[in-house]
Amino acid sequence: MTTIIDGDGVASEIRDALGESIETLAEAGARPGLATVLMGDDPASQTYVNMKQRDCEEVGIEGVHVDVDGDAPAEELYEAIEELNADPAIHGYLVQDPVPEHIDYREVLRRIDPAKDVDGFHPENVGRLVAGDARFKPCTPHGIQKLFEAYDVETEGADVTIVGRSDIVGKPMANLLMQKAEGANATVTVCHSRTTDLAEKTRSADVVIVACGVTELVDASMLSEGAVVIDVGISRVEADNGKGYELVGDVEFESAREKASAITPVPGGVGPMTRAMLLYNTVKAASITEDVPVELP
Ligand code: NAD
Repeated sequence: MTTIIDGDGVASEIRDALGESIETLAEAGARPGLATVLMGDDPASQTYVNMKQRDCEEVGIEGVHVDVDGDAPAEELYEAIEELNADPAIHGYLVQDPVPEHIDYREVLRRIDPAKDVDGFHPENVGRLVAGDARFKPCTPHGIQKLFEAYDVETEGADVTIVGRSDIVGKPMANLLMQKAEGANATVTVCHSRTTDLAEKTRSADVVIVACGVTELVDASMLSEGAVVIDVGISRVEADNGKGYELVGDVEFESAREKASAITPVPGGVGPMTRAMLLYNTVKAASITEDVPVELP
């Protein structure tokens, strides 16, 4: 019997637990504050920041949104960043990617106060993660680790193949899972667009994590019997369902579920976990900055 991993359910438990910590912080006069910064008017990015703001409201985090004109010079974005760095009510913030073409996203990341970098993308936080001393684990890989914990997926000694080497999913996922640490200790193979014989690498894995943005790239023929399959991909494809589109992952769910011992659906798998872990990092940031210890789920 294949387990369908319920990301919505696990995320909801994490949010409930965070709610209690947020109340503790608020009672100590330190309600966590999260800001989102959006430069330009990309519709998908607007949807993402709206969701993040709604999540804040639901759990009692003070949400602030900052819009920057898409045609403004980089300095205007840098000013917004400096203001957020200096604002004591903001414990964490993020600049929604993608930024307009004339903006250097790496420079943007370097200007964010690492203590407020709740995405975990500042070079200092990347370095700390690699060194095994993470301050903020990036939300998607952290969420996947939490799913493993919730579903008793053993990573110690497991062969894990990751498809995709992005800075936000593949690379930090590999770094987390190869650490000598609880919820890690895996042997990790990272595949990407230049990998030869991808199927051989996925078929030899106990756990396959797919984050490449190629719709239904991985099917049952590329999996071993009983593999755990984590589908990070989210693509919109046209559909005749009234909405005009549906969300599809990087794994061919219907065939893969026949072979997997456990698999995440799209939607309702990794996505809600990513959102929950942003709230987690915000609570952690507030707890550290305000020196008010709280339980983290
Ligand atoms: P990206 O788009 O930045 O990079 C894609 C990676 O996949 C690259 O490393 C590339 O080398 C690799 N790749 C591309 N084609 C490949 C192929 N045919 N074989 C092997 N590797 C291949 O990646 P990203 O930002 O990590 O996003 C990946 C997907 O995950 C997207 O669909 C994105 O929307 C989704 N995503 C979902 C969440 C979530 O919370 N569920 C979070 C982040 C990203």
